[in-house]
Amino acid sequence: MKLFLCCLVFMMTLPSAHPPPPGKLDASLIRPSGRLVIITLDGVRWQELYKGADPELLNDTEYTSDTSSMNLMYGGQTEEIRRQRLMPFLWNVISRKGQLYGNRSLRSHMNVSNIYSFSYPGYHEMFTGNTDLAISSNKKKHNPHTNVLEYLNGQELFSGKVAAFTSWDVFPYILGQKRNNLVINSGYENMEDKGSATFAAVNEVQTNILTEHVGTRKDQLTFITAKEYMAKEQPSVVLLGLGETDEFAHSGKYDLYLESLSKADQMIAELWNWIQSTPGYRNNTSLLITTDHGRGSKHDQWTSHGFFIKGSSQTWMALMGPGIEPLGEMKNGKQLYQQQLASLMAGLVGEKFGDHDMLTDSSRVTRR
Ligand SMILES: [Zn+2]
Repeated sequence: MKLFLCCLVFMMTLPSAHPPPPGKLDASLIRPSGRLVIITLDGVRWQELYKGADPELLNDTEYTSDTSSMNLMYGGQTEEIRRQRLMPFLWNVISRKGQLYGNRSLRSHMNVSNIYSFSYPGYHEMFTGNTDLAISSNKKKHNPHTNVLEYLNGQELFSGKVAAFTSWDVFPYILGQKRNNLVINSGYENMEDKGSATFAAVNEVQTNILTEHVGTRKDQLTFITAKEYMAKEQPSVVLLGLGETDEFAHSGKYDLYLESLSKADQMIAELWNWIQSTPGYRNNTSLLITTDHGRGSKHDQWTSHGFFIKGSSQTWMALMGPGIEPLGEMKNGKQLYQQQLASLMAGLVGEKFGDHDMLTDSSRVTRR
């Protein structure tokens, strides 16, 4: 009996051996458009997205230096007030025009399928549509698996029209650039300026002005580069991978984690406004926003994530676009998985990819 109890306790601490089956979303409520922008916010918890700033962390001087100002910025009596203050574009616009998944308070669930719950395995799962036990570190190792971005780039319709801009410099390895030659600008890599004053300015900042270069570039530089590339080259499928949120969380700076999330919300707002005022993109572009992993849900574990930290597998996603029905926060109790995202990305531009469909009957989707 003692042994049995021991085993039971051990098993209860492990991720469930029989996770719930993957839910499917109705393809008639998520229809494709001609273009797609994927935005990833590294290591952002569903808790901040759906409940705003955590009052306990906001008032803990170990994590928040200026508790008074930060409370005025992001505090509030209710979760609705706090989340609205933190991410006004998400809650004023996307929640009214799009769909939001992963609010556990409404029984909407999305999780990673990989057992590791950190970045490389997360992005691998997201873009290849599968997990691989051997993908078990964040090291710069070439990923041998085909991903949805290179798949789309290999289709006639999207050939040369897929591009990725990421703050984290491991993406060229995750996305197999050595094999597929995808357009990927990552970390502090310069762009060939080709007469663009914006590319030249970003290069100047990266090369001569910013003295401290770590593995993750300042998100604003990634954003400016992506937007300029979109204006010049008109790509059909774009990945914008932001990373500062995870960096600040790991260093235990809740105030800066919130600020970088708030800035990401502003960038999304600016990008959406540009999309909706630019011919070719206007009313022809879907937005998919998600994260690579969750973080610890306990007060002293929010800074970290991984196999042993509860909450790390919990993710979320937001969708908006001309084919996305404005259903707001989803309350359907369906369980979605990160490995279904690759098929969703393909489905959002009318293509099929991967072994794990997210949409019902997605073989019959037609481009609008
Ligand atoms: Zn991390």
